[in-house]
Amino acid sequence: CLPLQEVNFFLKDVFHLNRWKILQEKKTVDEDLLNSLISLREQGIPLAYITLKTEFYGISLSLKPGVFIPRRETETLVEVVLDKVSFLRRKDLKILDVGTGSGAIALALAFFLPDAFVWGTDIDNLSLQVARGNARSLSLESKCTFLRSNIFPEKGKFDIVVSNPPYIPSWQIPYLPRETSLFEPRVALDGGRDGLFFYRKLVKRIPFVLRKGGFLAVEVGESQAEEVAEIFSSRFKKIEIFSDLNGIRRVVVGS
Ligand code: GLN
Repeated sequence: CLPLQEVNFFLKDVFHLNRWKILQEKKTVDEDLLNSLISLREQGIPLAYITLKTEFYGISLSLKPGVFIPRRETETLVEVVLDKVSFLRRKDLKILDVGTGSGAIALALAFFLPDAFVWGTDIDNLSLQVARGNARSLSLESKCTFLRSNIFPEKGKFDIVVSNPPYIPSWQIPYLPRETSLFEPRVALDGGRDGLFFYRKLVKRIPFVLRKGGFLAVEVGESQAEEVAEIFSSRFKKIEIFSDLNGIRRVVVGS
């Protein structure tokens, strides 16, 4: 049985109805459509894959099944970057988001930093298609470029590199909530044997990608902050750790 609140999401997001319209204007809905949406949700399909949209850092994003659903805790990464940008004292900031997925982080940064140019890379073509569509809907396509690449683009240097890489240790994936393990793309989750594969990759090549004075900011999984800081220490003088709203050490920054 589906919680009433979830039915409410459908009424709002799919039928554009609220309590007022239902009660006062005696609106009705296509019952078959509502029932089929409810049945998809009962099968465990994530809500965002049914409504085909989500919200991240106050911006609306379209989604497609197979594209990683942006998480609330990732807003911490955006917040940390926006806070730190003021120290860089550059107007023409170049930012790279590695593993951009739906473009959530890249687009939020482009939206809130009017003078910045943002690149997003992803290995998955469907994600790139969704990210480009989102850039168009948000009228950000003149300052956002999405490229197919495994981690870094072939050329270019950036002031800021951000990433929410796959960081779940491979063996843990079957134990994630079913909504995630069954329906979300494994390439966006699987961080290899210990979950740290992508942090090592990022840090190894970062000297070729970061402009002087720039920084690398990443999201990490619960209890990974210390180990990621250790990986960062081979390349960065200054390492900072920031917590999310649940008090989990969620973001590591190297500069
Ligand atoms: N935070 C995601 C989850 O717990 C994982 C995201 C990631 O691997 N980057 O499902």
